[in-house]
Amino acid sequence: MQYISTRGGGAARTFTETLLEGLASDGGLAVPADLPTISAEHLQQWRSLSYAELAGNVIGLFATDIPRPDLMRLCQAAYTPAVFASEVPLRAIDDQLTLVGLSEGPTLAFKDMAMQFLGHALEYALERTGGVLNVLGATSGDTGSAAEHALRGMDRIAVFMLSPQGRMSDFQRAQMYSLQDDNIHNLAVEGVFDDCQDLVKELSGDPAFRSTHHLGAVNSINLARVTAQIVYYVWAWLRATDDQQTHEVSFAVPSGNFGNILSGHYARQMGLPIRQLVLAANENNVLDEFFRTGIYRPRAADQTPSTSSPSMDISRASNFERFVYDLQGRDPQRVQACWSELASTGAIDLSDETDRFAAEFGFVSGTSTHRDRLETIRSVYDATGQLIDPHTADGVAVARRYATGDVPMLVLETAKPEKFSQTIHEAIGVELELSPALHTMMSAEQRVTSIPASAAALREFIGERALKAGP
Ligand SMILES: *Cc1c(COP(=O)(O)O)cnc(C)c1O
Repeated sequence: MQYISTRGGGAARTFTETLLEGLASDGGLAVPADLPTISAEHLQQWRSLSYAELAGNVIGLFATDIPRPDLMRLCQAAYTPAVFASEVPLRAIDDQLTLVGLSEGPTLAFKDMAMQFLGHALEYALERTGGVLNVLGATSGDTGSAAEHALRGMDRIAVFMLSPQGRMSDFQRAQMYSLQDDNIHNLAVEGVFDDCQDLVKELSGDPAFRSTHHLGAVNSINLARVTAQIVYYVWAWLRATDDQQTHEVSFAVPSGNFGNILSGHYARQMGLPIRQLVLAANENNVLDEFFRTGIYRPRAADQTPSTSSPSMDISRASNFERFVYDLQGRDPQRVQACWSELASTGAIDLSDETDRFAAEFGFVSGTSTHRDRLETIRSVYDATGQLIDPHTADGVAVARRYATGDVPMLVLETAKPEKFSQTIHEAIGVELELSPALHTMMSAEQRVTSIPASAAALREFIGERALKAGP
């Protein structure tokens, strides 16, 4: 299996090569040269597998340069009961909707699932090449903690994670700063999230600094993350259908960077019987606007308000180019034309293609507001006694508009309610009880270094502590 760029430049690469680099050298995104297929025989054979075994089989269709026994070992290490308390449970919330429990990992969000695989895969790839990686990132809370919990204790990887001082919740701070591993460096920057991101851009954009210090990233465009997410859809399909007949299911996906639902799109293109892919947005609904009108118009930071589903407050969806590539017949010239149009007009107009979104690709979409979230959290709680987090509530709210009853509607649970207790309190008037393990985390000693929003200070910090390649 070879990987090429959506913009057509550069040489074809292996899975491991795309794993270790970020953007393709021509500014595009890595995509598989041909999508593998999932056959009815595959699905039959995969029914009895554990999540880790299934992951090895599905990821194995992509990571053909990793010997299968090694890949199986990486998946067993990632999806062990020590990290994931239970194996992606499916829980019905009414006679039409079922939640897919993807948030059983250490940071209580679905990002743990793909990130844990990525951590083990990176360490393995670095062992084979003899390299090291210093991951530099900025976080407003969720991605950074999933990355740190996945990469803690690795020998060939260190993490330098910038976060805005005083601007994260107590829970988010505890989740990151309570880690005592030597390879995890939390930096509280005197500024806002954009300042953190600017610092990362400045240092990553300096080729000399970047190569001297072996800088890398684990952001949502990483193809290994997209690949590991395809497993959710296959697992959920296998659990929601029965042995005798193959039938379709639909998925509803709370979306921000278009990473999770892109994996659903790949699963569907590979042959998994999916009827609809329901994209749920919050008030920052650039993607819903696209699927309704065919016009993609990213918004500036000052037009991206903070909402009660903060992980979806994204107005420039970094994985969207991979979908446009498929929509444009996998023609890099047409993808380039779209991005030139975006640069000159601020939008991409694909309004001639809107009929194909649902008919050919199964995509439909909707927007959920703060009010919808509160009402949905309340109604699910009243009907079932189950609490859902605000992002999952966006998914449930939009899924209800499309559920038809003739196929199961599976809603991906992207986080646990404990992470967003304020909104839960607003919805149902109850203070959530934290588990003993979370209590321990909240009161644990914290390890963090404050720095000014200065590139010089960050360079010095990294210069002193970055891992260095061996002889
Ligand atoms: C990251 C995240 C999302 C959005 O997922 P994308 O892959 O960026 O579309 C939704 N909900 C939660 C809780 C998240 O952390």
